[in-house]
Amino acid sequence: MGIAFVELLAARARTSAHLRRTPLFESPSLSARSGHPVLLKAEHHQTTGSFKLRGAMSALTALDEKARGRGVCAASTGNHGRALAHAARALGTRAAICMSALVPANKRAAVKALGASIRIVGNSQDDAQAEVKKLVAEKGFCEIPPFDHRDVIAGQGTLGIELLEEAPELEAVLVPLSGGGLIAGVALAVKTMSPATRVIGVSMERGAAMALCQKAGRYVAVEEVETLADSLGGGIGANNAHTFAMVRDLVDDIVLVDEAAIAQAIRFAYFAHGEVIEGAAAVPVAALLAEKFTPRGPTALLLTGKNIDMRTHLALVSETAHA
Ligand SMILES: *Cc1c(COP(=O)(O)O)cnc(C)c1O
Repeated sequence: MGIAFVELLAARARTSAHLRRTPLFESPSLSARSGHPVLLKAEHHQTTGSFKLRGAMSALTALDEKARGRGVCAASTGNHGRALAHAARALGTRAAICMSALVPANKRAAVKALGASIRIVGNSQDDAQAEVKKLVAEKGFCEIPPFDHRDVIAGQGTLGIELLEEAPELEAVLVPLSGGGLIAGVALAVKTMSPATRVIGVSMERGAAMALCQKAGRYVAVEEVETLADSLGGGIGANNAHTFAMVRDLVDDIVLVDEAAIAQAIRFAYFAHGEVIEGAAAVPVAALLAEKFTPRGPTALLLTGKNIDMRTHLALVSETAHA
């Protein structure tokens, strides 16, 4: 069954005490360039450094007390893992995050510091996922997937509600797109509250899984390659239950940006606004700077996360070519 707008409202009621309301501000230089107001939703200032906390908190608060008490688990090494660890601790339960031995020590430490237990298994994401299934079967843990889950999508949708309350007259919203949990929830909010507002997904050219699946009209396997937008890597799942259909039905367009544009957008956020954002969060800015998207009216860009390796960031902003 499809997800209804009331589920987003319910998710907001369950989670708002645990979440920050993130700032929304105008980018004078992007507005001047495009001839229309361009607003930045600074969701990278959310607790844990990304919007993923909205979905994790929504999913955990939707569990009954008994299920929640047994603990939750996931195989994410990135923002979802952090968010789940934080949410579990805030709600007084435990999180187990499974990762392969190839995950770098700093990423393990970040999740561990949030109070989750780390299980290192095998040498691939598939091995980590197999361990998740084992925890579910043997210990009664509840798996919370990163995007294809109705309570996760409803939680991400609270970002869309918050945005439209603050900026009701938007012509378009640009949303970083990977598995599609964020854009599914945001698009449901936008199409309910302001049906004429366009919702545009933005992915990197390198391994744009959802874009390729939508083009094919069905699930296709997409090879994962290295990209500055590392939080946008990975497929949509062969048994996708929600996000493929929601993107097909609610999203107006998907645009792709290259690595040079992502780097330029990270530099832009830093030099024009003093903001540190990760590659995944930079893709909407990149779409404007590279003229892959042309505003026709007031436009909002979602800055989704800030968890970039700081040495990578330093190297990017130190490059002399500030195009
Ligand atoms: C997960 C993530 C996304 C993409 O969200 P999906 O729901 O997978 O489409 C975008 N930006 C950041 C920073 C993320 O962590």
